[in-house]
Amino acid sequence: MHVLVTGGAGFIGGHLCRHLLNDDHVVHAVDNFDPYYDREIKEEGIADLTGRPNFHFYEQDINNTAFLGSVLEGRSLDAIVHLAAKAGVRASIDNPVGCAHANITGTQSMLEFARQMEVGTFILGSSSSVYGNNEKVPFAEEDAVHHPISPYAASKRSGELLAHTYHHLYDMTVYCLRFFTVYGPRQRPDLAIHKFARQLLTSQPITMYGDGTSSRDYTYVDDIVGGIVESFHRASALDQPEYEIINLGGSETTELLDLIHGIGDAFGIEPTIEQQSMPPGDVKRTYADISKAKALLDYTPNTSIEEGLNKFASWAKDYYSERTVEV
Ligand code: NAD
Repeated sequence: MHVLVTGGAGFIGGHLCRHLLNDDHVVHAVDNFDPYYDREIKEEGIADLTGRPNFHFYEQDINNTAFLGSVLEGRSLDAIVHLAAKAGVRASIDNPVGCAHANITGTQSMLEFARQMEVGTFILGSSSSVYGNNEKVPFAEEDAVHHPISPYAASKRSGELLAHTYHHLYDMTVYCLRFFTVYGPRQRPDLAIHKFARQLLTSQPITMYGDGTSSRDYTYVDDIVGGIVESFHRASALDQPEYEIINLGGSETTELLDLIHGIGDAFGIEPTIEQQSMPPGDVKRTYADISKAKALLDYTPNTSIEEGLNKFASWAKDYYSERTVEV
């Protein structure tokens, strides 16, 4: 298969590109190294890929489809996995226009590019944030998602709606995969697990927002990559194009206080905690109903939070052993 991965230097994108290359696919990756976080961690994440003959990397904004059209002219793409985004909830409150440009206009640009290139399968990295503070758990795909509580969440829902339009108009198969808090080696530095790790490594108290009872459905990155890959398999076996929204979660929730102690265990450091109020835009809990993913994609997350935290800690100890740790 020939696949275009947007956000290919990002956390999930880098893991996906490596997996696809190891499976002998041809991977084109585009990323503009958005300055939201340090590019060094992204460069390190794809350093082992850049010399591989089936890996083609373009440093460019996804909205520059003229550039993409020129470098991919004459190529046939089987699928686009659209992961490029400004991914932070809190950052989207500070910069809603930038968020909309990357996440909404950027998705529109990539859908239009997919149409022009006659790409049959479009996989969108959506998010559990679209469920907002819905009371009913676990969150299921048919639940109402009318009340996003951050520009980021609204932008992700917008992407799902735009993608539906392209499915309807142009017979594109679209999977909107709603990822639930993804973690693992090279995780985004702004996300809780990574931030807590840096606080532990610098002997600072861990900042705990709220009373520690907020909870998340943490999903190890390899399980997310597995779900994306299964989406290709499903798409390639279809007679008719389809549009599906599918939760990809770990389907197990962890309260924040337990997560903090779990990270402490993984690093072998007893955490101290500094409590602060919950920031606006943060949801109280996430919890995925993954029965649809099981039925359609044979998806089974099989990395426990303890195992995943140990793998993350092992990477982080190594990564920060050669660098100054900044919180
Ligand atoms: P990430 O920030 O590590 O990766 C996103 C990449 O997109 C970055 O490398 C960034 O440079 C690139 N990018 C941003 N704007 C761009 C643009 N205009 N043109 C080209 N590249 C651009 O984030 P991630 O955690 O790997 O997330 C990947 C996707 O998954 C995102 O769409 C995100 O919304 C979604 N998602 C992530 C999580 C999670 O917990 N990590 C949860 C739900 C959804």
